[in-house]
Amino acid sequence: MLDRFEIPRSHPRYWSLLLRERLVEAFEAGIVVPQGLIAHGRGEAFDYLLGEVSHGFALKAVEAAVAGLIYYKPRSVISVNGNMAALAPELLAELSEALEVPLEVNLFYRTEERVRRIEEHLRAHGARRVLGAGCRRTHLPGLESPRGIVCVEGIHSARFVLLGIEDGDRTEALKRAGKTVAAVDLNPFSRTAQTADITIVDELTRALKAALKAAERLSSAEPGELRGILDSYDNRAVLSSAFKAILDRLSHAVERGLILEPGPGRGDL
Ligand code: ATP
Ligand code: MG
Repeated sequence: MLDRFEIPRSHPRYWSLLLRERLVEAFEAGIVVPQGLIAHGRGEAFDYLLGEVSHGFALKAVEAAVAGLIYYKPRSVISVNGNMAALAPELLAELSEALEVPLEVNLFYRTEERVRRIEEHLRAHGARRVLGAGCRRTHLPGLESPRGIVCVEGIHSARFVLLGIEDGDRTEALKRAGKTVAAVDLNPFSRTAQTADITIVDELTRALKAALKAAERLSSAEPGELRGILDSYDNRAVLSSAFKAILDRLSHAVERGLILEPGPGRGDL
């Protein structure tokens, strides 16, 4: 057991440190794998480049993702892995409850014990619709190892899947299986970001907070309005804007030798 330390709220990187603490605790609890810690570091690097704020292009993608989750119900699902469960269990639970869309525990480094722990963690934070250890299972075509196991009533039969911090190989397998995929991924260069139909280039906890706001707005929308949001959504334009945001910040830094001010705090998780 590592020593826990109190993160001072005044620390300029308070949020970043808080999320790291959550991951370390979840690692010790057998929820996050060491590879997940490495993936988080890569995400953090891209968040620096983005200025640690939710950009307009991310909010547009969040709106389309929430529209899709509602429009395709009951054949929509939120895929949850160890990092997601560690970083934002309460936000995932809240979104699942608000939308009445299930969370499916779906792991790259799958062990049944870890599935059980993540399911318990989500339930302890208020999630009631969780497909986990008890679900009927099958394999995603093309991913025959344990990393291809999915729930029959969840991802297998879903038409729309929201996922995050996901490996490109598995995102591609979902696309080949005919799903519409929305992905939260800070790295617009990643295979997941490039393969998804809706790419939310934002940090997971910020994206989920924005999704809760969008859910409030869209939960009473007519199917026609949701369809309209999905039809007019342009992922290439969104990805292009993400690259441009990085380029603009870099240009500023190149010209002045100074980065722009970092983003504001994030409020309470
Ligand atoms: P790919 O397999 O898609 O090419 P990769 O191999 O670089 O990507 P993976 O570890 O497979 O990376 O996937 C994790 C992805 O999640 C990375 O792109 C990383 O930047 C991103 N990521 C990590 N932490 C967060 C976070 N908190 N919020 C959003 N994205 C994150
Ligand atoms: Mg990968």
